[in-house]
Amino acid sequence: MENNKSEEPDFSTANFLLAAHELRHLPEDSGAEVAFVGRSNAGKSSALNRITGKKGLARTSKSPGRTREIVFFTLDAEKRLVDLPGYGYAKTPKSLQQHWGHTLPEYLATRRSLRALIIVADARHGLKDSDRDILAWSSNVVPIRHLLLTKADKLSRSKAARSLEVVDAELQRDFAGASAQLFSATANTGVQLARNTVWRWLTED
Ligand code: GDP
Repeated sequence: MENNKSEEPDFSTANFLLAAHELRHLPEDSGAEVAFVGRSNAGKSSALNRITGKKGLARTSKSPGRTREIVFFTLDAEKRLVDLPGYGYAKTPKSLQQHWGHTLPEYLATRRSLRALIIVADARHGLKDSDRDILAWSSNVVPIRHLLLTKADKLSRSKAARSLEVVDAELQRDFAGASAQLFSATANTGVQLARNTVWRWLTED
């Protein structure tokens, strides 16, 4: 892969590639991809739209549980962003929960082009057990795990900082190597940092 670490992040080429319900329908496992995952309604679509600067890229919705497929966006032939199904939504049918309950860990464990996993969690709620499951499934198999604690605009500055501290402490204790940052799609908090880090993961050798 060409060495373009010094390039400015450019997500303007992000485009829908395909949506897959089964792992055998995934695009070829080459180049680099960064995947986004999170509880339904945590703000994953808003984060993807904000980071890419493309408002309609991932559909945002007030009805949680709607994302039921692995959605791929290409930046170019070598770089992809991946929108993984939201989890933890009570009304999701059991059969679908079971399907993703084994499909997601398998994707995380087998996808060679997966450079980093971004876990989106509501800063007001911190880590939930379903986020901990994802952290456990991805440990030792995904090189980089990074949490976006989003909707930070809904907390005071000190409460947001406290939320980050609590999550950081748990990550250090139980999920070594995982990192976290505050984020807000509406107030633009942490957007540049997230954009730079995602770009770095997509472009470094
Ligand atoms: P997803 O289900 O995880 O993809 O969540 P969405 O991105 O669809 O967001 C769920 C709801 O939270 C929507 O009503 C969004 O407008 C809202 N939301 C998402 N991110 C933010 C944020 O940073 N700040 C605030 N205040 N609301 C947000």
